[in-house]
Amino acid sequence: MGQKQKEMVQWERMLPAEFRLVIEKLPTVYLPLGTVEWHGEHDALGLDALKAHALCVRAAKKSGGIVHPPLYGGMGGLDKPATVKMEPENSWENYLLRPWLEKMCSEFHRLGFKAIIMLTGHYGHNQQIVVREVATRMTERLQIPILGIPEYWLALDAGYFGDHAGIGETSLLWHLEPDLVAIDRLKTDPDYGKDSVIELGSSPELGKKYTDLIIARLSSLAQSMPSWDGDKRDMFVRAENAILSVQLRGWRLLHPWAAWQNIHLEGVVDYSRLLVDEQFEKISILSRKLL
Ligand SMILES: [Zn+2]
Repeated sequence: MGQKQKEMVQWERMLPAEFRLVIEKLPTVYLPLGTVEWHGEHDALGLDALKAHALCVRAAKKSGGIVHPPLYGGMGGLDKPATVKMEPENSWENYLLRPWLEKMCSEFHRLGFKAIIMLTGHYGHNQQIVVREVATRMTERLQIPILGIPEYWLALDAGYFGDHAGIGETSLLWHLEPDLVAIDRLKTDPDYGKDSVIELGSSPELGKKYTDLIIARLSSLAQSMPSWDGDKRDMFVRAENAILSVQLRGWRLLHPWAAWQNIHLEGVVDYSRLLVDEQFEKISILSRKLL
């Protein structure tokens, strides 16, 4: 099993000896999050979870650590055929996603992991908020660093600001799972195919560009997070909470996406670089630009 063992990162495919070896080398676990949701006539329905899982697997092959199977289910989703909506997008309460994620984090902690990365490929505003909230809250409860972000927050400086079955998601899936994009079916889609923007803008090459950046940052975080000390964790929590506060304030006082409208600004796009460089105070400062 020599070569195979080296590449083994998927929890569900490991035998116990492999699990023990991998966690001993790097006690970081990746938890990919997504849902099943309509993504136009051109993209597979499981895009969000498939994308998050594939990114985590590729990152873990670089960094080490273990990838838990993806969670299909979250906040919101387009009101279209083949979408499962576990909880409404605008719900203040989270009866399913939040306790489920909290339990997963507790279990990872109980099993000996020293860092957790929850990467959500599904990103309505409330999904993003709940995932980040769980991450900061459980970082404090468990006293291990837990990051909870959408994958596109790791590629803001490459010009990807998140979309839904648009150029970004279509390109990522096209690169990560080439058989699951049928770009020629766009013309049959009255919404996504109403013009040729997605068809002309999407490519596996663009997906590779985003992927390379995202997995470089994920793998770097996965390697460094287990050794963060208490002070570093505190600063990390303060930084992530600063972003959360702005997102919540914008939602409640203005509109759900208010704190995302400046995400492309100079300085804000540096988020993931600052995260990898552990410049947490600069992230707290950056959060003020979001609203
Ligand atoms: Zn999506």
